[in-house]
Amino acid sequence: MKVLIVGAGIVGMTLAYEWQKRNPDDEIVIIDKEPHEAFHASGKNSGILHAGFYYNTDSLKAKLTADGNRLMKRFCNEKNININETGKLVVAKNEEEVKTLKELERRSQANNAGAYLITEEEAKKIDPNAKTYKYALYSPNTASVNPREVCSILRKDLENKGVKFVFNMHFEKYKESYDFLINAAGLYADKIAHKFGSGLDYEVIPFKGLYLKYLGDDKIKTQIYPVPNIKNPFLGVHFTLMADNTIKIGPTAIPAFWRENYTGFERFNFKEMIEILGIEAKMFFKHKWFRDLAFYEMRYYLPKNLINEAKKLVYKLNGDFKPYPPGIRAQLVDKRDFSLVMDFLVEHKKNQIHILNAVSPAFTASFAFAGYVLDECVGE
Ligand SMILES: Cc1cc2nc3c(=O)[nH]c(=O)nc-3n(C[C@H](O)[C@H](O)[C@H](O)COP(=O)(O)OP(=O)(O)OC[C@H]3O[C@@H](n4cnc5c(N)ncnc54)[C@H](O)[C@@H]3O)c2cc1C
Repeated sequence: MKVLIVGAGIVGMTLAYEWQKRNPDDEIVIIDKEPHEAFHASGKNSGILHAGFYYNTDSLKAKLTADGNRLMKRFCNEKNININETGKLVVAKNEEEVKTLKELERRSQANNAGAYLITEEEAKKIDPNAKTYKYALYSPNTASVNPREVCSILRKDLENKGVKFVFNMHFEKYKESYDFLINAAGLYADKIAHKFGSGLDYEVIPFKGLYLKYLGDDKIKTQIYPVPNIKNPFLGVHFTLMADNTIKIGPTAIPAFWRENYTGFERFNFKEMIEILGIEAKMFFKHKWFRDLAFYEMRYYLPKNLINEAKKLVYKLNGDFKPYPPGIRAQLVDKRDFSLVMDFLVEHKKNQIHILNAVSPAFTASFAFAGYVLDECVGE
């Protein structure tokens, strides 16, 4: 059988890895419109291996993240990829946030994520710079990796096993035949699904994640995150201690105007902008939470607002910052009520799988997610 996978991001490549393991005789071809793997979200994310405590216990994210974390670490260890075992503190600002910390601890237990509440004093022992109110949630399983390194080594591993990569190839221009299609096209997965009559209730809306790299001497020793608004899928501006121990703050979740709207007018697409603005306008008028989010996030175009937000999480931070390349989240919107789809979403029919919402923590969860997708969507 010839399997065509669209998208050389982490999701497309882990699906290839899992398919190849199950069916070593099949021919697998991965195409991508860009010149190399991980050109978009998979190479432009925070590189955090999440533990899995954020998610509603009945979600796929809850089911797959802790396992995905373990499988990703196993892959990295097998391939000698550096894992920075930083752990993570989620820090609170007030009594209300402590309540959310307790809910996160409950989810952690249910999801097998290994995070637990500690006191302010215990948090100080883990990282003297982390500022919290009464309690913090400590997650020993959270770690960081260089996502570009992971993806490049995964690509080599797949090539060694006979998987063929074709770069600079748009799906729309691919003329060869195939027996099975896996659509893992990230920001364009909805468009490809629509061609086949799948995912018709959904549209991808891009959310821009801006980062700043920290250049000062005051350090942090662990990942430091705020308590998130658990009603939306974003985790809030946080400190990321990267695989090489450099520190960045971000990412924002600013509604973007076209899908690959990274900086300035790069990859400007007028038709897309009109479509996306239409959906964002509907979300804006329909949902107060979206208006609040949009106004709050737009402030981050001024770097000082991003820095001030990050400073709330620590005692000392005096150095300078410089811009760091942004990433864009491919966030699915349900057009029936203009809500954000919170969980991973997959649609499949005979000989086709469409990965519609591979949002964070899909990097962490990818190996477990690939196994789940093939179990659920491919008949014996
Ligand atoms: C700012 C940011 C921070 C994040 N932080 C984390 C984190 O810390 N931890 C975590 O677990 N997750 C994180 N994520 C989420 C994670 O990066 C994504 O869930 C994951 O990378 C999705 O992978 P993917 O393969 O689906 O998408 P992508 O990496 O976007 O891959 C899709 C590929 O499809 C290709 N493609 C698109 N259209 C076509 C077409 N028509 N023809 C051919 N090819 C096409 C694209 O070129 C692209 O290479 C973050 C995401 C962002 C944006």
